[in-house]
Amino acid sequence: SYRRSMAVSAYDLTGRTAFVTGAASGIGRATAVLLAEAGATVHCADLDAAGLHETATLIKDAGGTAHTHPLDVTDRGQLHQAVTSCERLDVLAAVAGIMHSSPVLETRDEDLDRVLDVNFKGVLHACQEAARLMLDRGTRGSIVTMASGAVDTGGAGLLCYGASKAAVVQLTKTLATEVGRYGIRVNAVAPGWIRTPMTDRHDEDAQAHTEALMSRMSPLKRVGEPQDIAHAVLYLASDASSFTTGQILRPNGGVAMP
Ligand code: NAD
Repeated sequence: SYRRSMAVSAYDLTGRTAFVTGAASGIGRATAVLLAEAGATVHCADLDAAGLHETATLIKDAGGTAHTHPLDVTDRGQLHQAVTSCERLDVLAAVAGIMHSSPVLETRDEDLDRVLDVNFKGVLHACQEAARLMLDRGTRGSIVTMASGAVDTGGAGLLCYGASKAAVVQLTKTLATEVGRYGIRVNAVAPGWIRTPMTDRHDEDAQAHTEALMSRMSPLKRVGEPQDIAHAVLYLASDASSFTTGQILRPNGGVAMP
């Protein structure tokens, strides 16, 4: 029916171009694949060239269009080249990130610098490049960043990681305020615990223990999967969220946050 097609078309990205960092694995890969399924041409960027190739193959096998950009998000020049190679840009999903855990009293400046470089500056560079291209072309685009539930919980060991994600939240809100008048929206996704290579404990028993604990904490009694987060990104990337900006969406299975 007409109403049904209006509801579906709000999520349709046909004719649009998306740039996804961290696209070689986990949440970034699921996001790249889903945005392609929604109709977007997807530019996949990551350090991991082999993983990128696998993601692009998944997209192409499903009839989608993908381009790959092996790069390091901490290298501003590489990001500039990759983003400006896009003729236009409607969506940025800045997903690339690393985990780091160390007690405050054992945290070295090198640890903090490395995590901030990748998780904060890497996202900042991608946002700057994408927003510039959108402004140059007059595109009313959508930028989606990846924060974390860690910004709400604190959490032992999560000083560097949480600080980097808190900085991503600040970037998201600030940029949203600055570019909103041009029709560019900027939102963050703050996932709870998601089953990806990042959260793999490389030990069957330890993994089962963690997953049981995380399932119990959620009212939904299951752990999160990359697709759960990809769907949140699709919502924020698409016209379905056209009046939403500067927000933090928390797909975390309803785990109570303080
Ligand atoms: P993942 O390790 O599976 O994927 C991260 C990807 O980022 C990898 O492909 C990696 O190669 C890429 N990457 C890392 N450093 C890079 C760099 N300098 N340049 C380019 N690419 C780089 O992890 P994931 O779980 O899919 O995490 C994706 C994002 O979601 C991260 O920002 C993470 O902090 C965030 N997040 C994850 C969880 C979770 O529970 N898995 C929860 C909250 C937030």
